[in-house]
This record gives sequence, C-alpha cells and structure tokens, in this order.
Amino acid sequence: TEELLNNTEKLVFAGQIAVGIAHEIRNPLTTVKGMLQLSGKDNRLRHYDLIMSELERMNLIVGEFLVLGKQQAVQFRQECCYQILREVLHLFEIQAALNSITIECTVHEDHMIYCDRNQIKQVFMNILRNAVEALPYGGHVRISLDREDVFQRIRFTDDGMGMSAEMLQRVGEPFQTTKVEGNGLGIMIVKKIIEAHKGRVAINSEMNKGTQVDIDLPIAKV
Ligand code: ADP
Ligand code: MG
Repeated sequence: TEELLNNTEKLVFAGQIAVGIAHEIRNPLTTVKGMLQLSGKDNRLRHYDLIMSELERMNLIVGEFLVLGKQQAVQFRQECCYQILREVLHLFEIQAALNSITIECTVHEDHMIYCDRNQIKQVFMNILRNAVEALPYGGHVRISLDREDVFQRIRFTDDGMGMSAEMLQRVGEPFQTTKVEGNGLGIMIVKKIIEAHKGRVAINSEMNKGTQVDIDLPIAKV
C-alpha cells in the first residue's frame, strides 16, 4: 500500500507540473501560430504546412494537459449516455471510413448518467482514438451499453493490435506510450476523469487480438 500511495502522489505531482507548464506554453504558442498564419502563407514560407501542423500538434498536447487541471465550468448533472456517445462517434465517422474501420454500437440498456458532459466526451474520445490507432489496417470497433448494478457500463472492444502484458500493466501511467506520435496521456486522463465521477475503468488486452475497455459510470449521484 505504501508504494501505491507513493505512486499516486507522484502522479498527482506530475499532473500539477504538467498543467502549470501547459498554461505557460499555451499563450506564446497561440501567438506564434497567429503570427505564422498572418505572415507565413503570403511570403510562401518554406515548410509552412509542416510548421503549422507541428504547432497544431503542440497545441493538442497542451490542450490534453489542460484538461487535467480544468476545474472551472465542471457541471455534474443527469445526462443521456448514448447521446454523448453519439456526438463523439460523429467526430470519428470520416476517419473510420478512410481507414476501413467499422464502428458499431449496440444499446441493450441506456440510462441517464450523473456526469460532466464535456469530461465524459473527452473519455470516449480518448478511448476511441486509441481503438482507431490500434487498427492501422482496418477492423472493427464495437461499443455496447448495458446496466451493471448501479452503473451504466460502456464497453469498447476493438480487434486491433492489442497490448503486451507489460504495457497493460503500465497503461495509464503518464507518458507510457508505444506510439511514435503518442504522448501517453490519454488513458491517464480517462482514469482521472472516471475517478472523479466515482466510476470504474477496466482494461483487458491481448497482443494481436484486441482490447476491451469497460467504463462504468454511476447512473445517479453517489
Ligand atoms: P497514447 O495513445 O498517446 O500512446 P494513451 O494513454 O492513450 O497514450 O495509451 C497508452 C498506450 O496504451 C498506447 O501507446 C498503446 O500502447 C496502449 N493502448 C491504449 N489503448 C489501446 C488499444 N485500444 N489497443 C492497443 N493498445 C492500446
Ligand atoms: Mg491515446
């Protein structure tokens, strides 16, 4: 237990530093992007698009860090789980089609969940992004909604590349990534948000078989 506590403390500390840095970086980053947009394209700056897309990537990473520290405007209320999911799925339609990925959703039971809508969107997005990224040659992502005791269970199953046992153990620790373009923050954010919702996260995965992520969210205030 001592080591566990220690790890949690480390994680919280790492999170605080990350958020602090992200705040400091965001403003100059916005300025640089703006300046580049203003003057770069007209002067046909070499590698304009590359610089722009790299800046955009930095912006995304900073954005992910900031989610961790976002305390303002959090609004817990009863929300329709399937509705939130559909809004997120909409964002993946084109990317999925381009990559020969089918995403299907089966609703056995749909309940209102007690949550902050934007945070849960972020959770679904991070999980779906991982699923899509695990399917470079196409495949299937299945989502099902079920009732599990006092929870609404949202299960994401992909038949992608899966994880090694080592990775499965470490997934959710900051900066643990196997991707060239990854930052290893997605699942950490998922865990943090679900914890704040008094929910549960369970991840199972097998190399070359696929991955299953269960998110359990309370259907009422606890
Ligand atoms: P990132 O996606 O930036 O690497 P995440 O925290 O979202 O960071 O995921 C951490 C790691 O967990 C990934 O790099 C990958 O190795 C593994 N992972 C997460 N989800 C999946 C999945 N659906 N299929 C295979 N591996 C996954
Ligand atoms: Mg990810």
